[in-house]
Amino acid sequence: MDLSFTPEEERYRQRVRKFMEENLPEGWGKPGFKQPSGDAAIELQREWTRRLHKAGFLGMAWPKEYGGQGASQIELAIFNEEAARVRAPNPINGVGLILVGPTIMSHGTEEQKKRFLPKILSGEELWCQGFSEPNAGSDLGSLRTRAELIGDQFVVNGQKVWTTQAHIADWCILMVRTDPTAPKHRGISYLLVDMKTPGVTVKPLRQMTGGHEFNEMFFDNVRVPRTNLLGELNGGWRVGMTTLMNERGTSAFAVWLRYRITFDELVELGRKQLRHGRRATEDPVIRQQLAQAYIDLEGLRYVSYRTFSQILKGGTPGPEGSISKILWSELNQRMNELAMALQGPASQLVRGSPHAIEEGRWQFTFLRSRANTIEAGTSEIQRNIIAQRVLGLPRSY
Ligand SMILES: Cc1cc2nc3c(=O)[nH]c(=O)nc-3n(C[C@H](O)[C@H](O)[C@H](O)COP(=O)(O)OP(=O)(O)OC[C@H]3O[C@@H](n4cnc5c(N)ncnc54)[C@H](O)[C@@H]3O)c2cc1C
Repeated sequence: MDLSFTPEEERYRQRVRKFMEENLPEGWGKPGFKQPSGDAAIELQREWTRRLHKAGFLGMAWPKEYGGQGASQIELAIFNEEAARVRAPNPINGVGLILVGPTIMSHGTEEQKKRFLPKILSGEELWCQGFSEPNAGSDLGSLRTRAELIGDQFVVNGQKVWTTQAHIADWCILMVRTDPTAPKHRGISYLLVDMKTPGVTVKPLRQMTGGHEFNEMFFDNVRVPRTNLLGELNGGWRVGMTTLMNERGTSAFAVWLRYRITFDELVELGRKQLRHGRRATEDPVIRQQLAQAYIDLEGLRYVSYRTFSQILKGGTPGPEGSISKILWSELNQRMNELAMALQGPASQLVRGSPHAIEEGRWQFTFLRSRANTIEAGTSEIQRNIIAQRVLGLPRSY
């Protein structure tokens, strides 16, 4: 592919850069800047989303009739690159923008597109993803949350788990079993559920970082209008796969840049830390680990270009997104492990300790990175997808 940008695209980059300079919170990304947490972090993301929307930087590649900008995939990539370069906050409605919007565009009726897409962009309605259940994570096809079609309503009963942002979401994409007698992937439907419907209960789950990103969700005789069925009755598996392909594939390009910045920060940390009386970056073993991380990053960059090229040609990401998912998640874990090793005994000091190195931020990202190889499908599952759907290898079981 041609990796150079046209003069118009370069001008577009300057426009994005100017927006970032003028709109990021004061001191953002500078050493010593304290990132807000909890409710303050959510408020910051909401405000950031409002600014992005006002400036036309959300849903950029979405069609204009649904509130998008009709921008090219290249402009979208430039925006993502610039946002990653300054480590801009994520918009509050990541699930809506990356997962729900593209899925509704692919499978929704005209009425559903007009009803839901503009409010995803404006951030007025936040979404969560109700797929995983206590006994259906990797094997999503085993899901048991039941929806019975009675008249023109589905009546939903069951439980979901690990639902990110369910505690602040207005709507949920919910995969449910509508035909228990059909083979397991054929009896599933995909519903759009208003989280304020009576019978929906959300209970928080606390993570080892101390944060609270996700929840359990319980459905007790929850009534969902038939008009909120996305795609065909019992055809929800295909709709769900569209969601998962978008979850794994589209953001690879920006992810590369984010981890390139993490790598640079890791090298900086190594220059400051001592090992056997010398700077850690002079230690041959550390140098090898840093070199390996750099090589892995370059691999990720080219795989990201390939995924991006695929999107340019076909519009939707394919199973190849699994390759970049494995690369970035495992690389991020290795880089964070190295950050811990570089700090030696001080790696035990977390946020809040006055002696914690860089205010304990590596300790937080180290703990958070453990989830990277689980969320959006585990590494084992991604390897299965690559083996079967990218390489076409036969199943061994
Ligand atoms: C931070 C975070 C956020 C999340 N957010 C959401 C969300 O918003 N919505 C949502 O629906 N879900 C969410 N999840 C859930 C996530 O999708 C699941 O955790 C994931 O799919 C794994 O399912 P599981 O936890 O049930 O593990 P299991 O499926 O029980 O897997 C356990 C282990 O067995 C391995 N394994 C399972 N099957 C196979 C196989 N066929 N071959 C080889 N190995 C296998 C797995 O790789 C894993 O190591 C989130 C998870 C995390 C960590």
